[in-house]
Amino acid sequence: MTQGSKKRRDWGLPMAEGEEECTPDIINVGGFGNSGVVITEEGVVVVDAGIGSGTGRRIIRAIRERTKAPVHTIIYTHGHFDHAYNVGPLFEDAKVKGHPRPRVIAHQAVLKRFERYKKLFGHHEHINRIEYDIAKEVEVLPPEFYYPDLTYADAMMFKLGGLTFELYHAMGETDDATWVWIPERKAAIVGDLIVWSCPNIGNPLKVQRYELEWAEALERIAGKAPEILLPGHGPVVRGKLVQEICLNTAKFLRYMHDEVIRLLNEGCWIEEILDRVSLPQDLANKPYLAPIYGCPTFIIHGIQRRYAGWFSGNPTNLFPSKSAEIATEVVRAGGAEKLLERSRELRKQGKIQLALHLVDFVIEGTQDNQSRKEALLLKAELLEAKASAERSYIARNILRHGAKAAREESSRL
Ligand SMILES: [Zn+2]
Repeated sequence: MTQGSKKRRDWGLPMAEGEEECTPDIINVGGFGNSGVVITEEGVVVVDAGIGSGTGRRIIRAIRERTKAPVHTIIYTHGHFDHAYNVGPLFEDAKVKGHPRPRVIAHQAVLKRFERYKKLFGHHEHINRIEYDIAKEVEVLPPEFYYPDLTYADAMMFKLGGLTFELYHAMGETDDATWVWIPERKAAIVGDLIVWSCPNIGNPLKVQRYELEWAEALERIAGKAPEILLPGHGPVVRGKLVQEICLNTAKFLRYMHDEVIRLLNEGCWIEEILDRVSLPQDLANKPYLAPIYGCPTFIIHGIQRRYAGWFSGNPTNLFPSKSAEIATEVVRAGGAEKLLERSRELRKQGKIQLALHLVDFVIEGTQDNQSRKEALLLKAELLEAKASAERSYIARNILRHGAKAAREESSRL
């Protein structure tokens, strides 16, 4: 094992460290994904089980330090791997103690999600390796899914040990989200509806996400007037900040939605929309909306994709030639040397993105190995420079992955 692989993996989102007692009977167990542990006399409810065996052990420790009662119910806030894949340690603990296996509750769309993950296993291996910058020899996806025992459509409620658990369906980062409301404690456990980052709408590698429904869900949560909010990632939110974080995130999502819609209605294509949407600075500067995971550019793409087709606006691109054929003609007309020279000038001027476009023509359009090698190495440097200035974890990893691929290719020439 190399030293690097012993370091804790950077998953891009803020992490809540350790345990936090939100109330004497509601504990947030921090990890990459948070787990909400709710203790009642009749049994324990665990909302999400985080990721990794270490987190599993910490959840069990947090429970056993406080009660001998069995884990009664596990709730998935959605079917992503950092929330719904780590229930094995809880099942094992129940077995060892002779308790019945805890039941698992989730929204009904989690079932479809798991089926989709099975159908597209290879694709998800491919894209997640890029999104999380995972080395070739490391397994990307956990091998096991734990299907829910009980699903619901819009809302459900159960009582346990004097507490009420209200489960509400929402759509946001996923279509299968659940948020949990415990009225006796004025506590909301909301999964990835709050993650202390600019919402991850329009992830360039993933399926459609839902900006307006996300805003609606946050407004509904705020409507309950919670005093404590356990987010899917990052620190617990308390007091007045709960309203602020929910309503400002909702306002930001509605603003982005309305801007894209306005420009679509003006007849703009995606390039112009990306150029013309300006951010509401008062909101964009809030720490909980920082573009450290998702980012506004991706949000614009996500909303545009939801409401419009893929046509760029230029009929040339309707049935385009292959990029290598176009590049060959550009190199033939301009020469690889000139293109490389201009790329370096652009880099010096700080115009990294433009330099990248020119370098790609050389990589794809020349048969000369020396020029290709130079271009690939320059591309790797440009992508690394871009990555080091990029705040979004997803964008940074895609850029880094591309830099590594360019270096690898250059070493084969
Ligand atoms: Zn998550």
